[in-house]
Amino acid sequence: MTYTATVDKDVCISSGRCVADAPEAFDFDDDELAEAVPGHPGLSDAALVELARVCPSGAIRVHDELGAEVEL
Ligand code: SF4
Repeated sequence: MTYTATVDKDVCISSGRCVADAPEAFDFDDDELAEAVPGHPGLSDAALVELARVCPSGAIRVHDELGAEVEL
């Protein structure tokens, strides 16, 4: 795993998709907005990108090992 993900909580609509599809890597905070678990355990870079692609609000941002945003 070299990519990292963050959730823009101003954009997340609490659909729960990322949490349902990858509960080891995404969780809800107290406001039911998603957040990425540090290290995204169990997720490959490709799986992380796919989760970001299918987020209905586009709230998940993926960055490569140099910190550049990965184009989805
Ligand atoms: S899939 Fe997107 S909108 Fe849904 S909970 Fe995750 S970050 Fe929020």
